[in-house]
Order: sequence, then structure tokens, then C-alpha cells
Amino acid sequence: MIEVSNLKKSYGKLEVLKQITFDVNKNDVVAVIGPSGSGKSTMLRSLIHLEEIDGGSIKVDGDYLVKDGVYASPHEIKRITAKMGMVFQHFNLFPHLTVKDNLEMAPRLLKREDVQVIEQRRAELLEKIGLTKWADAYPSRLSGGQKQRVAIARALMMNPDILLFDEPTSALDPELTGEVLQVMKDLAQEHMTMIVVTHEMGFAKEVANRVIFMDNGEIVESGHPTELFENPQCERTKAFLNRSL
Ligand code: ATP
Ligand code: MG
Repeated sequence: MIEVSNLKKSYGKLEVLKQITFDVNKNDVVAVIGPSGSGKSTMLRSLIHLEEIDGGSIKVDGDYLVKDGVYASPHEIKRITAKMGMVFQHFNLFPHLTVKDNLEMAPRLLKREDVQVIEQRRAELLEKIGLTKWADAYPSRLSGGQKQRVAIARALMMNPDILLFDEPTSALDPELTGEVLQVMKDLAQEHMTMIVVTHEMGFAKEVANRVIFMDNGEIVESGHPTELFENPQCERTKAFLNRSL
């Protein structure tokens, strides 16, 4: 579904991504772990063209977003990145819009569907995340966990084939992470394809079918969570896990 090969990205002299290569198959839940500054966010953001890479290729569903460092046309980029939804650490909800309008805004602007279809989907998604009662509230009235659930629903409004999460629970009080992880688990059970940058090792173990460990702009090691957590092959992975578990 996504094929990433030899991704390279530098900020000035700092090489942030060095020859990153990995695949994501349909229905995969891939957890990306690694120390701060290892390039996890940059890698994820480059998949939806929030960052431009300097070299390498990203192929989504058979189409190149970028091939050997050369980007597709703006129209193609839009079409390809529309297959992916992203959920950020800090929710990024529109503060001046109600929960309902946060969900409906992007599909309404696109004008590809009847308003009734959009409203129906919004109602279903609010039900799914248990926030039907909050449809007319503004984000400032919600808890962090509720905000993040809305952000997930908003991403789902666009019917993405793949969801990308960048530390979706890192900004939450510990007692609120569970409700967000539960929504993500439910999505995994419904076979949503997901890439999740996370510090939640429990979630990675329980829900992911693959874990990628990044350090210093490289993929040091990847594998099934049981293998990677219980029998890491590289010293850097071992050291990181010892610090994190
Ligand atoms: P964290 O766990 O803290 O979120 P990360 O693994 O997501 O870290 P990135 O945010 O991808 O790491 O950053 C990788 C490196 O690139 C870091 O050294 C960071 O300082 C640097 N970096 C990121 N964005 C920029 C930018 N816009 N300009 C310059 N350097 C940047
Ligand atoms: Mg990050």
C-alpha cells in the first residue's frame, strides 16, 4: 500500500532521514518508535507531503508521490495524499468551529458528496467515538482525550485508506490516554491500515503487527512486536527498550 525507499532529508547539514526504506501493506498496523529527534515525525510528515524530501521514493497504492527525489504534479500530489489522514499530537482542531463543523468542514469544501451523506457519516462517527452529545460544543469545552477522539473522527470523515498518527496520546494526561488508544484499537480491529508513531509500548505490543525502531535518521531494526520487544537484535534497540519499558 505504501512503499518507501531510500528516503533522504536534511535540514542544512543535519541529516534527519538517511536512506529510510520500508513497506506498509493493507491492514498493517505499524508502530514507529525511537528516541526524540530520531526523525519519526519528519518521516511521517513526508508521507503526506507536509515535508519535502531530498531523495528517494514514496509510492502509494501503485502511484509515485515522489520518485527518486522528483515529485509528481501538484494535482497528483493532492490526489495521492488525499488517501491518507493524519492525527497530530496537539489535535489541531479548529477552535472557532463546533465539533460537528470540525468534522464536516473538509468534505463540505470538497463538494464531492451530498450534504446529507456527509451529515450521516458525521453522525455515525460521533456515535462511534461516543461524542454525539458534544456535536454542538466548541473544542475548548472538551477534555484532551475527547479532542483527540474528535481529531480521529475528523480524519475518518475523508474516508482515508491509511491513517497516520504522530504521538496521538503524548499530550494527554495519563488517565485520558486509554480512551484514545481504545478508539485506535477499534480501528485496527476493523482492519484500518495505520502507521502510529508512539511511546506507548503496550499499544505497540498489543495492537501493531510490526514495529519499526528508528534512531538517528535510520531504521535500525523492524519486526513483529514479540520479536522486537523480547529479542531485539541490535544494541541500540536494546538500550532504547531498556530505557523505555
Ligand atoms: P520527537 O520524539 O521529539 O517527536 P522525532 O523523532 O519526531 O522526535 P523529528 O521531529 O522528525 O524527530 O526531528 C528530527 C530532527 O530534525 C531533529 O534533530 C529536529 O531538531 C530536526 N528538525 C525537525 N524539523 C526541523 C526544521 N523544520 N528545521 C530544522 N531542523 C528540524
Ligand atoms: Mg516527533
